[in-house]
Amino acid sequence: MKHTIAIVGGGACGVATFIELFIKIHQLGIGHKVRLDWFEKDETLGHGLAFGSEEKGHLLNTPTDLMGVYAKEPDHFTDWVADRKSNDSELVKGEGGWSDKYTARFLYGDYLQEQADEYLAMANRTGFEVCVKRTRICELDQDKSTYVLHDQSGGVHTADFVVLALGTPKPHNFLELREYENYVPFPWPSKPITDRLEGKKHVGVLGSSLSAIDTIMTLEDNGYKGKITLFSPDGLLPKVQPIENKGIDRKYLTVPNIHKIAREQLKRIRTVDLYHLFEKEFDHQTAGSQALSRFNRIGKDAAQCLDEDIGNAGNGGDMLMNIAYALRYDSSTIWNDMSRREKVKFMKHLGPHWATNRHAMPLPNAKRLQKLFHEGRLRVMPFFERVEKLDEGFKMHFQEDKNQDSQSVDLLINATGSPSQLSLMDDPLIQSMLEKKIVEEYPVGGALVNYRTLQVMAPQSGNGLFATGHLVNGILMDVNAVWFNVRTIETLVEELLFKLRHRDSI
Ligand SMILES: Cc1cc2nc3c(=O)[nH]c(=O)nc-3n(C[C@H](O)[C@H](O)[C@H](O)COP(=O)(O)OP(=O)(O)OC[C@H]3O[C@@H](n4cnc5c(N)ncnc54)[C@H](O)[C@@H]3O)c2cc1C
Repeated sequence: MKHTIAIVGGGACGVATFIELFIKIHQLGIGHKVRLDWFEKDETLGHGLAFGSEEKGHLLNTPTDLMGVYAKEPDHFTDWVADRKSNDSELVKGEGGWSDKYTARFLYGDYLQEQADEYLAMANRTGFEVCVKRTRICELDQDKSTYVLHDQSGGVHTADFVVLALGTPKPHNFLELREYENYVPFPWPSKPITDRLEGKKHVGVLGSSLSAIDTIMTLEDNGYKGKITLFSPDGLLPKVQPIENKGIDRKYLTVPNIHKIAREQLKRIRTVDLYHLFEKEFDHQTAGSQALSRFNRIGKDAAQCLDEDIGNAGNGGDMLMNIAYALRYDSSTIWNDMSRREKVKFMKHLGPHWATNRHAMPLPNAKRLQKLFHEGRLRVMPFFERVEKLDEGFKMHFQEDKNQDSQSVDLLINATGSPSQLSLMDDPLIQSMLEKKIVEEYPVGGALVNYRTLQVMAPQSGNGLFATGHLVNGILMDVNAVWFNVRTIETLVEELLFKLRHRDSI
């Protein structure tokens, strides 16, 4: 009797999981003992929410050399783009070499689909049993060591192991606005937005992060000519990706220093410890020539900040970005060394600054925003507090003590991004698994999983359930990056196959 592994989700994480399983199963020579069921509710594999947008202006926010879907080959996508010599300036943007380019996200979705198709064809040739099932999984049950998956048409499937690669769910906020015609609850796909543009003079966008940038591109690329205002509590725009990142050698904010502090105080590292190390690092790297306080941009004029960032993009970015990028491969180790309480504290006090520096926008899109600011068509308003429904449109209100006049908009788009808490994720499968204690909330966000193996830890999770991507956004820090997900999926697959082989000593 073959072991069945089920993958739920065919986006970037689903594709990476399928390919890594395929490779490892064949390397271990156990293809005759294992079969895969791969569930995807949408028509295509690879695209998903992240890479399925049809808008050319929706660019990757990561350079090509970090987007390879194969473990240990992060720049495989660079080769794929370069091989295609796809000089289509509409789809491949950026001033650097191939490895520093930013492609339209759907081109990356095409890449993922092509890789998945290649391995599905190989499975066909080798006789390895893989079944792609185009259906939504709505319920999951666990009975002893078997998982039972229920699909949207009443179909029932069983598996010995399940990998949840469900991706990024819709936000569960501003529910009271959903009944209104001129309110769009999510920026993707773009049709609900483009269907409502006619006659609109002032569009409001909830949020000012990368999702809001996407929304501006959708408006611009579909002929909108009116005013755009972004509303958010902090008014922070993402920073601008430098043409080439300036590498720095860290002296203070390093894993050995962090470990030494935790060892000496016999306590896990605290947010305040990290902040002090960061201050020292910043001072060291700038030779004390810059004041850290000037980088606190909350409440500052977003257009001026953007001009400054675009200026810095040609010189490797500013020191905050350089330090954040230098931490790329250490941040998840440091994150894992922190207690839940300290992680919550970090997200509360430093989260917004970390996000704007760590998840910056590509320069081509930054320049489009700059043009809109200079034309007086774009504004970013901080200290946003609430929305009031008017007969026509909406009134946006701010924190009282900030003396900002309320603003009226005639179309409102929710680009606040995905919730991190499981209970706030607008997804029936996640909510039913929570109810059945098959998954358990992690206070910082996402589901409780084993940090190394991504095995789900909950009273009713059994011993063969794994999760990846946004679903584990609390235990792991960098789940909104393909390179990180590909890395963690490699360990997940190793653990899953070890359990599988161990289960009947294959
Ligand atoms: C808009 C956006 C842009 C991003 N851009 C980048 C970027 O440029 N670079 C980067 O590194 N990261 C980016 N990310 C982060 C991204 O989340 C991760 O990179 C992640 O790896 C994306 O893949 P995924 O498979 O987790 O999610 P998704 O792309 O959301 O795919 C999940 C898939 O699962 C399917 N699915 C969900 N539930 C079910 C179910 N119950 N049954 C069957 N199928 C189901 C969905 O249809 C979808 O196809 C972006 C994220 C978003 C949301």
